[in-house]
Amino acid sequence: MTWEMEKQANDRGMAMDRPIARRDFLNGVAIGVGSIASAMLPDMANGILAGAAEAPARWGYYPPNLTGLRGSHPGSFELAHKLRQGDFPVQAPRATEVYDLVIVGGGISGLAAAYFYRERKPSAHILVLDNHDDFGGHAKRNEFLLGGRIELINGGTLGIDSPRPYSIIAAGLLRKLGVDPVKLDATCAKKNFYSSIGLGRGMFFDRETFGADKLVVGVGSKPWAELLADAPLTARVRTDIARLYEAKIDYMSDLSRGQKKERLAKMSYRDFLVNVARVDPGVVSVFQARTHGEWGVGIDAVGALEVWALRFPGFQGLDLDQPGAAPQAGATPRMGFTASGYAATGGSYRFHFPDGNASIARLLVRSLVPSSISGRSAEDIVTAKADYRKLDRPGAPVRIRLNSIAVSTRNVGEPASAREVEVIYARGGTLAAVRCKAAVLACWNMMIPYLCPDLPEPQKVALKYPVKTPLVYTSVAIRNWRAFAELGVHEIYAPGSYHSSVRLNETVDIGDYLSVRSPDDPMLVHMQRTPCKPGLDQREQHRFGRAELLDTSFEVFERNVRDQLARTLSPGGFDPALDIIAITVNRWPHGYAYEYNPLFDPDWNEHQQPHAIGRAPFGRITIANSDSGAGAYTDSAIDQAHRAIEEVMAIEN
Ligand SMILES: Cc1cc2nc3c(=O)[nH]c(=O)nc-3n(C[C@H](O)[C@H](O)[C@H](O)COP(=O)(O)OP(=O)(O)OC[C@H]3O[C@@H](n4cnc5c(N)ncnc54)[C@H](O)[C@@H]3O)c2cc1C
Repeated sequence: MTWEMEKQANDRGMAMDRPIARRDFLNGVAIGVGSIASAMLPDMANGILAGAAEAPARWGYYPPNLTGLRGSHPGSFELAHKLRQGDFPVQAPRATEVYDLVIVGGGISGLAAAYFYRERKPSAHILVLDNHDDFGGHAKRNEFLLGGRIELINGGTLGIDSPRPYSIIAAGLLRKLGVDPVKLDATCAKKNFYSSIGLGRGMFFDRETFGADKLVVGVGSKPWAELLADAPLTARVRTDIARLYEAKIDYMSDLSRGQKKERLAKMSYRDFLVNVARVDPGVVSVFQARTHGEWGVGIDAVGALEVWALRFPGFQGLDLDQPGAAPQAGATPRMGFTASGYAATGGSYRFHFPDGNASIARLLVRSLVPSSISGRSAEDIVTAKADYRKLDRPGAPVRIRLNSIAVSTRNVGEPASAREVEVIYARGGTLAAVRCKAAVLACWNMMIPYLCPDLPEPQKVALKYPVKTPLVYTSVAIRNWRAFAELGVHEIYAPGSYHSSVRLNETVDIGDYLSVRSPDDPMLVHMQRTPCKPGLDQREQHRFGRAELLDTSFEVFERNVRDQLARTLSPGGFDPALDIIAITVNRWPHGYAYEYNPLFDPDWNEHQQPHAIGRAPFGRITIANSDSGAGAYTDSAIDQAHRAIEEVMAIEN
């Protein structure tokens, strides 16, 4: 058999030859995706979203239930790339609308900015522009109708957590929206459901990396020697992993605690393993992807001190904790918030909504445009349906305009004396202009120099410095999860596989939303992929990963999902052709905000850091978004929105 014939046979076995829309039926109930979805997707004409302008006004427009390539979906970003290439001359049309404030970006930061401005100016008229077909930015909702029930999962941002305690501003906004994470944590989160029914954590070793496909189950519950007994690893690798986890050895006994931390802050975890703990190089392959979810790069590009804070193995004999301090606290200042953080956050923010922080975005939208989402509590927001037709109504105090990409933002006149800002955006194949008293750019830092070419050169350089982390959250709807139950596993780390982690949807019961209980019921599976290129510095790795993501078709994702789930779960009876019923690939080529990496970035003082230089107000234009706080967390997006609005108030007064 030729390679091509073999591939076709494999594809047939995984049902790659059947169109996904036809697989979107379960128990005779359509899951509300597929053919409807593709009919609603905007066409592209010359890089401008054609046909998208009227889409939200149509009955049935409901992006959360679209499958296929989501996140930065086709049609949302191409124009931005043309603008970057200088391939899109912007000719200013005459402004047809006037607002008090225009906000570019309808993520948590942009929506929070609208909220804060309305608090200060209740009668203000605000326009929010976003290039995606849905609001929320990274905080996106994936919604499936499976077997007659709504199943929710996060397409991006999940947790109301942060390495720092939430500020008064960020915690205050949540309180005003009715979100009390501590109370919700106590009442809604069913954290130990899977362990209560005997499911544990596993590791999958793939044949391409380790020589054989093998799932081992019992991470954290079995002794390492027992767990790895059948793993395709050499005896030396198995012994070294067990030593890392179980032995209490001070590998740096000639140094003081402070000296150890100084060294560990500037050393990758990979180097710590190989050069300090002196493990067999084969151990590196096992740990390589352990940092993907948090930083988007492998252990070659993450500092050892940072992973010490996350309780990675090998440090327990080094006596790094300060006497009397919380475990893992007290890293060097260079570590910024990454190391001091997790301890400080404590358990207060462990609760998350079933669709992650999309619920926070939806609460913000409900507060800004009350007619668009019904209900009044943080519990009922979860099942409330959003009416997208209401988001952009003439005369409404706040209008949220989707499928609209800003291409120019300029002070009308000299920045210091300007009385107005003009914002030009593309929508539905045409350009439109609006004028406003001030504009907040709650979009992405690297986009801003192209929107505002008049910015001072050093500010543009600073704004271009961060490279956002590319990553993919894939949501897979499956017919039942008997294979997981059979194998005794709910979460799998897969260091060499296409997606480096696979887990059953977390169980949260809130309001009318009840999560799945029986393995016979349909279920959502969350898979994560973080494309990167070990050996390069972090920003280069992100650039590499972003290019890869933009170049990968849905078909490639789908084939890899089917292949990986089949190889991991078939010993439990999983059949990808029968069991997979829908796939949503949440693709984020510009994901997490960049956080400085002590291995690669200079030891700037706070004011020299690019994000601090980049966020300076420019005339009547201010800058929000999580990039401007150099923190890839929801609290950063909110705090920066508040700062940007305070700057607007100072300009206006
Ligand atoms: C996959 C993923 C998981 C995450 N998980 C967590 C988590 O668990 N907890 C947590 O606290 N944080 C998490 N984060 C980070 C968190 O999502 C962000 O910090 C926060 O939501 C960012 O909000 P933002 O409004 O600053 O940016 P975004 O959410 O990116 O919103 C900015 C919006 O502006 C739009 N935009 C850009 N340019 C233009 C333009 N020219 N015209 C119009 N619109 C434009 C963008 O497309 C986007 O929709 C996660 C991020 C990602 C990507």
